Amino acid sequence: MNSDYLKEYSKSADANTMFDAEALTEQQRELIAKVDEYGVAWAERAFKYDREASFPTENYDDLKEMGFLGLCVPERFGGLGADYRTYTLVASRIAYYCGSTANTFNMHNANALWTADMVDAMNLTDEQRAQQDRNRQIHYGNMLAGKIYSQPFSAGGGAAAGKHPFGTIATPTEGGWLINGKKIFASLSGAADYYGVLCTEDVENPSYADTMFIAVPAEAEGVSVVGDWDPLGMRGTVSRTLLFKDVFVPETSQLMPRGVYIKAASQYPHMFMTLTPCYIGVAQAAYDFSVAYLRGEVAGVNVKRRMYPTKQFGIAEMYIKLQQAWALFHRVTSEFKRSPSRAERLRAYACQYTVMEYCAEICAAAVRVCGGQAMLKTFPLERMYRDSRCGALMLPWTSEICIDRLGHGLLYNENERDD
Ligand SMILES: Cc1cc2nc3c(=O)[nH]c(=O)nc-3n(C[C@H](O)[C@H](O)[C@H](O)COP(=O)(O)OP(=O)(O)OC[C@H]3O[C@@H](n4cnc5c(N)ncnc54)[C@H](O)[C@@H]3O)c2cc1C
Repeated sequence: MNSDYLKEYSKSADANTMFDAEALTEQQRELIAKVDEYGVAWAERAFKYDREASFPTENYDDLKEMGFLGLCVPERFGGLGADYRTYTLVASRIAYYCGSTANTFNMHNANALWTADMVDAMNLTDEQRAQQDRNRQIHYGNMLAGKIYSQPFSAGGGAAAGKHPFGTIATPTEGGWLINGKKIFASLSGAADYYGVLCTEDVENPSYADTMFIAVPAEAEGVSVVGDWDPLGMRGTVSRTLLFKDVFVPETSQLMPRGVYIKAASQYPHMFMTLTPCYIGVAQAAYDFSVAYLRGEVAGVNVKRRMYPTKQFGIAEMYIKLQQAWALFHRVTSEFKRSPSRAERLRAYACQYTVMEYCAEICAAAVRVCGGQAMLKTFPLERMYRDSRCGALMLPWTSEICIDRLGHGLLYNENERDD
């Protein structure tokens, strides 16, 4: 396949805009370098996973070997201890090589990122803290042992957008919970060992505050994966439908204490923009491909096209968008904190929107600028173009929802209403 140019291009990551090498911590530099060691092989395999719409199992074997299934597991639990910002940088680099791997890797890592420091910062009873420590010891241990977690959130209605409680129900029973319901677009379906399910506790008049976060073993009785998977893009995510029918899970399956999810979600809004790295990585990959292609450096079409003013204009426009997206991305991912200011919260929506929309625009521009031969399936560009269309659809922060919240948030102060 035609990923050879990457061997050169991946060496100059800091020079070609992704990261300011000077600003990276040693840990970040090392983790990114580790991704670069494996990345070209992922870029090669991406053709097959895309064609088959199959899960990138070999890439996950690599991630396992790299210790990356424990990327966001805190060091005190034996993991690599990547914080939010570090995670976003590493994930963007994974996406640079394979979008589907990064998209699914986000789901895995959310199970660690959301349940560590964010939960510790909440006002918990001693009993809840002890329970949380016991449970995550188990689940982090699983991740470190190479088990894959996913994060089925979407239910096909307004729940994932925060409009009403999740339709999947957790009913307390002796020694644990009974799970019943359905999740759509469950990335890693059939590949994950545990599904980190957002569901609602079975109480009278449930509200969003009754949300539970529960790890359901894929092998548990009553779990099934149904439906086809033949989408436009991000085909390697294998996001089929999950059904839960009277699935028993023990108490230790709780990834967060009762009532904590809603508090964490409102105090840590940045936790919902962890797919942004995936799409900025894809945008960078499309841009780098275009530069290599126009310079005549992509095997198969070694014809220089860089001397034409229209190509120069096109690549300059792509670069400007990419720079804008990276600038916002680096600022916003550095602003992750508990209870960010109103300005920081709104900027996070602007960042998610910008990256998701610009990714699609940059990939579309890349197809036009490079021209007809570049969109053949022997090149990665047409896959990036298709993958890029998915970013704006990702709940809970779709492009439309970002615009909705920004529009309202910019014109109204908190709790302000019209008479
Ligand atoms: C490749 C891929 C992988 C995915 N993986 C996962 C996964 O692992 N886990 C997971 O949980 N989900 C996953 N999703 C699902 C994704 O997050 C969305 O839930 C899904 O795309 C929504 O599809 P829908 O047709 O139900 O959209 P709808 O919910 O009908 O929404 C359609 C559009 O309407 C808008 N909208 C919806 N509600 C509101 C509102 N209240 N206010 C304003 N606008 C609104 C949004 O812009 C949305 O895009 C994945 C999606 C894709 C494409």
